[in-house]
Amino acid sequence: MATIFSKIVAGEIPSYKVAEDENNYAFLDINPVAPGHTLVIPKREVDYLFDLTDEEYVDLQLFAKRVATAIKQTMPCQRVGVAVMGLEVPHAHIHLIPINEEKDMNFFKEKATVAPDEMARIAQTIADAMGNNHSELF
Ligand code: 5GP
Repeated sequence: MATIFSKIVAGEIPSYKVAEDENNYAFLDINPVAPGHTLVIPKREVDYLFDLTDEEYVDLQLFAKRVATAIKQTMPCQRVGVAVMGLEVPHAHIHLIPINEEKDMNFFKEKATVAPDEMARIAQTIADAMGNNHSELF
């Protein structure tokens, strides 16, 4: 059965899309640790990140780098933190989280409340910054 993330890629479930290329997709986490919390996934449905082929892994990481650069440009933060856990959704994904302090990476604190129109605005802002980065994504 397709994972929820494959359904997002297929457009069967809506997402606040940030970026897409041939093999990868980035969208806002629906339950963000911080505003701008983004998930980066390979379109191919692989459960464990390190089961991707070398080529797929490098391609995903380079895509994540572009997304992180756009997040850093648009969200007020010192850095973009990176995490991989993947115990909830069996489809490899990289969490990119705007942070100012180490404790901002805490997945167990109360999640940020971000209204739907603000989620849409943030996704568009990051997407626009990716365009400004002249990435070859679009
Ligand atoms: P993990 O598997 O790394 O523990 O976490 C999965 C992440 O996916 C969580 O942060 C959760 O909020 C996010 N998530 C789960 N279902 C959906 C969904 O349907 N849409 C979006 N945008 N994010 C989701």
